[in-house]
Amino acid sequence: MATDTTNGATAPKFPDQVTGMYILAESLKRLGLDKVYGLIGIPVTEAAYAMQYVGVKYVGFRFEQQAGMAAATHGFLTKQPGVLLTVSSLGFMNGLTATANATVNCYPMIQISGASDPDMVDMKMGTYEELDQLNTARPLVKAAFRCSHARDIPGAVARAYRAAVSGRPGGVYIDMTTPALAEIMNREDAEALYYTPVDIVTPTAPNPDAVSRAVELLLNAKRPAVILGKGAAYAQVDDKIKQLIETYRIPYFPMSMAKGLMPDNGELSALSCRSDIMSKSDVVLLLGARLNWLLSFGKGKWNPNAKFIQLDVEPQEIDCNVPIAAPVVGDLGLSLDAILAALSGKTLATDPAWIPALQAETKAKDAKFAQRLTDASTVSPMNHWSALSAVKPILEANPDVILINEGANTLDDTRDAVNMSLPRHRVDCATWAIMGMGMGSAVGAAVATGKSVVAIEGDSAFGFSGMDFGTICRFKLPVTVVIFNNGGIYNAVGVNPATDPAIKNDPAPTTLDVDARYDKMGEVFGVANYYVTTPAELTTALTTAIASKAPAIINVQLAPNAGAESGHIGYLNPAPLINYTV
Ligand code: ADP
Ligand code: MG
Repeated sequence: MATDTTNGATAPKFPDQVTGMYILAESLKRLGLDKVYGLIGIPVTEAAYAMQYVGVKYVGFRFEQQAGMAAATHGFLTKQPGVLLTVSSLGFMNGLTATANATVNCYPMIQISGASDPDMVDMKMGTYEELDQLNTARPLVKAAFRCSHARDIPGAVARAYRAAVSGRPGGVYIDMTTPALAEIMNREDAEALYYTPVDIVTPTAPNPDAVSRAVELLLNAKRPAVILGKGAAYAQVDDKIKQLIETYRIPYFPMSMAKGLMPDNGELSALSCRSDIMSKSDVVLLLGARLNWLLSFGKGKWNPNAKFIQLDVEPQEIDCNVPIAAPVVGDLGLSLDAILAALSGKTLATDPAWIPALQAETKAKDAKFAQRLTDASTVSPMNHWSALSAVKPILEANPDVILINEGANTLDDTRDAVNMSLPRHRVDCATWAIMGMGMGSAVGAAVATGKSVVAIEGDSAFGFSGMDFGTICRFKLPVTVVIFNNGGIYNAVGVNPATDPAIKNDPAPTTLDVDARYDKMGEVFGVANYYVTTPAELTTALTTAIASKAPAIINVQLAPNAGAESGHIGYLNPAPLINYTV
């Protein structure tokens, strides 16, 4: 914390005087926001040093987007907003990608970005890193604040925290202007600015009529089902969900990040019966899950006569795609309390054949699935299923390891293969199905929870965030990165259709490097690294890596033709007229 001494006796001096940056650090610390992810430079460098000074863990990244993914994952796993610190202009924009993704996924996070003097930005004077960040961020976040003075900072941080976690969680932006950051105050004047917000988290209770309506519907259901969404995982009301499902014996289907909230292989799990749940359930209880594209918008494949009970904190979610027969708007914990109280002593009118039918279907599907893995385990070179035949038993034997997962086939197949048995142990590319959340989310998960992490990455997906493997290594986090390398986006067999000799030898648009040795990144950063070509080698490498509780990277060599275009969501690809090969 350099101070200018050229003015002699009047020069400000720490600790009697402090900057806006120091006030920012103190404000975060006093609200319990003691972990910050970022990438610094002008005008926020001192802010990060001040954070360390006051006891905030500052995790410096190589790319702001990944710092943002870490903050978002932190928010999802802890219910406390993850904090992202960025510099002005491009740093802000890079981070904003992750903040927008957090808003869409209902993860609470706060992006705090240095910003050039708005007086100059607004007049388009061409100042350093000139960008109207506040208005750029606004449509992508729940709330946006600008601090023009140091005195604004503690209130802005408290309000951002409240905005991020209340109602439907999401991303919040604070435009931290250079004048505010640079302002110097007497410490005692700064001290007077800090305050403890009352009820920073205010869960709202549902309307009693809504509860009665929902319970009435549920009691009369013949083929009830629960859809568990990541909002239910986020809410941390695991015992209430378990009580509802087990006491009233309702089959459940988990969305990908709700896997493990109830055990995937539990007696009432309908994980393998997605289409039965959709086409046959007559009353569907949505717990923190949206009827968006991931659930076919509640139409088409769904029983047209199904009635939905939707528990959600966001009133605007209700009726989004289909009319909701019984909306219960409120915090999930309070809504479940009310529903459990109203159900107490009653029994559902469930058709006695419903659960056994789902269980029989599960048994048949799971046997087929197990056979597929067994068959794949001897295939050489490996495909995704061969690799998963090694990964599955190891992760299932280590349920407390948090699984980060992205890719196309790597995502779909890993999600299907690996059963989860603990809540909030799976983080993936979620609602937008984006690529480029891997290393950031791995760091966020490890830092937020202190647990070990395994990131299962497609080779293309890894490319978006690969350099932040270095952050995992620099912070010595217990993270194993496993790259399923089939050398391409989807696979490596794309054929360039060009006839022009100037471009006909270029790689096809989907082709990457099947011979790339991603494991060598372990050498770059001085950590354990493995190159594996068989399930047996993968078993040894992954087991050793997890046990080491230290950074490690495993390049899993797959066949270049392993994997289908777009994985399981090829139907979303506009039908091509050029007959290309992938
Ligand atoms: P998934 O993709 O797993 O189905 P979504 O992200 O689509 O999950 O849906 C999550 C839903 O959970 C959102 O509609 C969000 O408003 C809701 N939600 C988040 N937190 C809570 C909470 N504490 N109580 C109730 N609903 C919540
Ligand atoms: Mg690939």
